[in-house]
Amino acid sequence: MMGMDKRKRIIFFTVIVPIIALFCHFPVVKAEELPASTVHLRILETTDLHGNMLDYDYRKKRETIEFGLARTATLIKKARNEVQNSLLFDNGDLLVGNALGEYAVKKYKENPKYFFHPVYKIMNSLHYDAATLGNHEFNYGLDFLLDSIKGAKFPYVNANVYVDDHNDVEVDDINFFNPYVILNKQVVDTNGQTHNIKVGVIGLLTPIFYAWDIEHVRGMAKVKSLVQTAEHFVPIMKQKGADVIVVLAHSGIGADKRLKDQEGNNLFNLSKVKGIDAILFGHSHSVFPGRDDLKNRPGINNEKGTINGVAAVQAGFWGNHLGIIDLNLQHINGEWKVMDSQSEVQSIFRIINGKKKPNVNPDPEIHALMEESHLNTLMYLEESNLGFPLSP
Ligand SMILES: [Zn+2]
Repeated sequence: MMGMDKRKRIIFFTVIVPIIALFCHFPVVKAEELPASTVHLRILETTDLHGNMLDYDYRKKRETIEFGLARTATLIKKARNEVQNSLLFDNGDLLVGNALGEYAVKKYKENPKYFFHPVYKIMNSLHYDAATLGNHEFNYGLDFLLDSIKGAKFPYVNANVYVDDHNDVEVDDINFFNPYVILNKQVVDTNGQTHNIKVGVIGLLTPIFYAWDIEHVRGMAKVKSLVQTAEHFVPIMKQKGADVIVVLAHSGIGADKRLKDQEGNNLFNLSKVKGIDAILFGHSHSVFPGRDDLKNRPGINNEKGTINGVAAVQAGFWGNHLGIIDLNLQHINGEWKVMDSQSEVQSIFRIINGKKKPNVNPDPEIHALMEESHLNTLMYLEESNLGFPLSP
């Protein structure tokens, strides 16, 4: 050291010594000792939109900050931009429930052959990855439902509605809809490496739709419980290569009160079906996590947003919230495993001193896309005198 000038001494101590120290303390990491790949996968949910594409209240005939996918879309785009890997799903009760929905039904009745449900202008522009059916999709009959969802540029899944084959034998039962999809999702891990993860998405619907829309489904369709259906299909999806299983359940956390099979139709029991990694739910127009009445319920983590350890989220209604589940996946022994999760709901407005303030602005793209349908709906409202009593 004696012969070094000051500059060389600084370089020696600040650069060379730390490098030597690093090699002395940490042996070179062999390939097989590298930590497993970690992938952050964000899952986004909308649910119970009931035709509310715009931030417009057709009952009060004025703009609103309290609902409408136009504002949720701003949250969707923000949530997507924050991460490298995301998927977007809708949990049903989409087609009817407001004046736009009624206007769509009128157009359908006039000319079913050339019908396009206006909600899909928006849903397609937001590039949903998949969706499931809600009970209200059955309100105007199976033809309206089937012709409407033809407009979606993303797959629809439902696994527990079956063709009524008028017998009690299980093995010959045929699904009414496509029960599940396996999405090939290209993801980037935390080291910047790309991987393909197969995300299995299955749809389930509270069997209450059968009682509520009996005139449309009697003799045409039959329904099985959420738990029985998941127990049947999840192993099949796994066998077909699904790395991650996402359930889109159009059901509240508890079974609908009028259902005979309470045990088979609550999310608490559904979450115990082996292999499920995430449950997106809806129908009861509530939010999860963060609901006060779910505090201290056994099996429910109201901060993390898990039910029996399974990540879950419920995104309110009419687009007033966006549901988010962040999954932390690791590749261990050739399998992708959920190591951790965090769920949250983001509201489009907040309340300060009793006053509602917007959290986000509406997405101008959605306003532009809806302009014509909105004007037609307003005209239709003028002609008819509509009221919209709504059950979940
Ligand atoms: Zn519903």
